Amino acid sequence: MSVLICGGAGYIGSHNVRTFMAHGENVIVVDNLVTGHRASVPSSVRFYEGDIRNGEILDKIFTENQIDAVIHFCACSLVGESVEKPLKYFDNNVWGMISLLEAMQRNNINKIIFSSSAATYGEPEKIPILETAPTNPTNPYGESKRMMEIMMKWLSNVSNIKYVSLRYFNVAGAWHDGSIGEDHKCETHLIPLILQVPLGKRDHVTVFGNDYPTKDGTCIRDYVHVCDIADAHVLALEYLRNGGESNIFNLGSGDGYSVMEMITAAEKASGQKIKLEIGARRAGDPARLVADSHKAREILKWSPKFTDMAEIIATAWKWHKAHPNGF
Ligand code: NAD
Ligand code: UDP
Repeated sequence: MSVLICGGAGYIGSHNVRTFMAHGENVIVVDNLVTGHRASVPSSVRFYEGDIRNGEILDKIFTENQIDAVIHFCACSLVGESVEKPLKYFDNNVWGMISLLEAMQRNNINKIIFSSSAATYGEPEKIPILETAPTNPTNPYGESKRMMEIMMKWLSNVSNIKYVSLRYFNVAGAWHDGSIGEDHKCETHLIPLILQVPLGKRDHVTVFGNDYPTKDGTCIRDYVHVCDIADAHVLALEYLRNGGESNIFNLGSGDGYSVMEMITAAEKASGQKIKLEIGARRAGDPARLVADSHKAREILKWSPKFTDMAEIIATAWKWHKAHPNGF
């Protein structure tokens, strides 16, 4: 039996491909390469270049392979762009999920692990955030992720499909040997942007606001290593294979780091001073987002291995230094 990784050529998907392979799974990948990279997937993996909104391609994959479960990473995931182009997000993310679930039903595939996001919560009422917290997304991206969860919930009530939705907080870092990592042409994430300074690709990093009600005035986020995220997917699949019920889990470290602390950790990881400028707040940024991940630790027995921020950033630094222009 094989595991189908949808979006396996992307940042998080490609780390999952390697992690599932390391656990002895036979992995198949489908990806339209819109933001993913063919080179991030080992050549030994059966790779289908295609769009999951195309049911015929999915039927072909499910017919040509014995698929036991689907791990679903495909999405457009830029918050700012989602506000500008909401329909693009509902088309790719929501319609993509409908197409995938329909194909799973047609082909009798009954397990799916889904990449959800902290963006489903919106502005939190309480920190740390529990899975039971209200979901009030503040942008179309977060709304699309919540809609995808809701579709799985209602479908699982009337079918044999079981799902695990993993709500990631801020995913960071790269594969230990620096061979794969984050390579988004339109980069908005803090760590790659900070590291562009010591790489000589930008003069400084802009801190989006230092007047938040936090210890140093900059926003606090919960960063978790991409390999720890991948481990959680392996555990989530084991959970479903062992008869676990459909469920939702937060994935975060439980520790919050401010933007200023991240810059300091990046200086330690890169061994270089990083120039910064204080800029305006970015619209829609909550001051503090930190996960309560006890549920994943207790039920999935998930235990993130990376706890030191400089160590997490050091893995990203190894990747960026070796591949300054990406794949
Ligand atoms: P990514 O853009 O690197 O990966 C997404 C992959 O899916 C890409 O390879 C892309 O080409 C592919 N894809 C997109 N739409 C497709 C379609 N319709 N058909 C086939 N392939 C398609 O993004 P990422 O950072 O690796 O994120 C992976 C998932 O995790 C996304 O669903 C994202 O919303 C979610 N997520 C990411 C973070 C983060 O910090 N990076 C946080 C929370 C949730
Ligand atoms: N951030 C920043 N400067 C940048 C990019 C991001 O100060 O150039 C801040 C951003 O305001 C947020 C944190 O860094 O508080 C993490 O942002 P990112 O876009 O990486 O992830 P998000 O939390 O938005 O998903």
